[in-house]
Amino acid sequence: MHDLTFCQEILTALSEKRKKLTKNHKIKVAHVSISPLSHVTPETLRETFAVMVKGTPFAGIKLNVGILQLGIKCESCKKGFMVDKPTFECPECHGQVLNLIYQKEFVVDSIETDKRPKGTGKRSKKAVTKRR
Ligand SMILES: [Zn+2]
Repeated sequence: MHDLTFCQEILTALSEKRKKLTKNHKIKVAHVSISPLSHVTPETLRETFAVMVKGTPFAGIKLNVGILQLGIKCESCKKGFMVDKPTFECPECHGQVLNLIYQKEFVVDSIETDKRPKGTGKRSKKAVTKRR
């Protein structure tokens, strides 16, 4: 049930962000990334998130899910490289002994806010007066 853990992390980040916002700002999009080795897909994560935020102040926030890169090192040529999906062959020497040296499961990249237009309802009526 990794998707729930990830969603909990997103909600925590959203709550923190919300505390710092003024009333003129509204959270629009949460940008997150998951590991390609994670059992959670962007689709299931978005679905779980939508269910979790239903009826909360966070309902309607869009979830943008990206894929994290993996750090892999080849034992034959000793080269390290970053890939966005699991690989079983070194792109350099085609060696097949690869070690996973870096993996992050989930990150909240950023939270995008939108500023509401200012001064609505304060329109000046001076210019509207007509002369006869
Ligand atoms: Zn290699």
